[in-house]
Amino acid sequence: MAGRDMTGWTVEQLYEDHAQALREREVFYDSNTDHQRLRVFENGIFGRVMTLDGVVQVTEKDNFIYHEMLTHVPILAHGAAKRILIVGGGDGGMAREALRHSSVEHVTMVEIDGGVVEFSKEYLAAISDGAFDDPRLDLVIADGAEFMRREGEGYDVIIVDSTDPIGPGEVLFTDTFYGHAKRRLNPGGILVTQNGVPFLQGDELTNTMRAFQALFADATCYLATIPTYAGGPMAFGWGTDGAAREVDLATLEARFAAADLSCEYYTPEVHKAAFALPGYVKRLIP
Ligand code: SAM
Repeated sequence: MAGRDMTGWTVEQLYEDHAQALREREVFYDSNTDHQRLRVFENGIFGRVMTLDGVVQVTEKDNFIYHEMLTHVPILAHGAAKRILIVGGGDGGMAREALRHSSVEHVTMVEIDGGVVEFSKEYLAAISDGAFDDPRLDLVIADGAEFMRREGEGYDVIIVDSTDPIGPGEVLFTDTFYGHAKRRLNPGGILVTQNGVPFLQGDELTNTMRAFQALFADATCYLATIPTYAGGPMAFGWGTDGAAREVDLATLEARFAAADLSCEYYTPEVHKAAFALPGYVKRLIP
């Protein structure tokens, strides 16, 4: 950042005219994996932080918002989700939250970079919190796009927990990938995606929504704000041919109580409200 000495800081510059800086109290790891530059450091506010290619992926302190909203919203809206597919998610936080549902019988996690899993287990164990040892988890180290191309068993919920559409994550934001994902959904299944911060990454949301509208009867997004995904609320793409989004609050409350989840962000009211979109986000949906 021009003018200031940013030694001892990670400066994330995703955009030409915007950056965010996080102070590095201690650096635990910094090296190239087979696919990306992986760095893990301690920050005085967010605890341990992992970046991939200089972009914040996950922090100990605010990951709960992101992981709760990308799992409990589709799983509780579905009501009978037994098989979950996670594409990406190498830090294990998404698997952690999905596996908290005793009704979930199987989670497949397809992560392209085994190094992210190994270093997350070692330096960010609090995030996966034992998920990698859960017998219901099947970890596949592969390109999610390649995995999705294959025929295979169906899933009730597919969660795309990828990096941004740069580098290895780019293939996970294509119409082809979404079409293959739809094919792997069981009847009534739901596809949800990490779809960037619409205030700064509006095109990403528009492109995904255009693809979802061609594939699903119900194509929209929902929002939650994660402090280290800078620029305001993050959008989560939502695609399904079922009526899961219409589930009423009383039903959600009953399912939430039955699931016995102690969440820090998710509540049934927040679930319903997350689909209420402000004008600037609505205008990004074709
Ligand atoms: N919460 C973060 C965000 O919103 O950007 C995502 C975190 S998670 C660590 C992102 C994961 O996607 C990384 O582990 C990365 O290796 C993985 N990934 C990127 N491209 C992939 C691909 N084509 N197939 C499978 N995993 C991929």
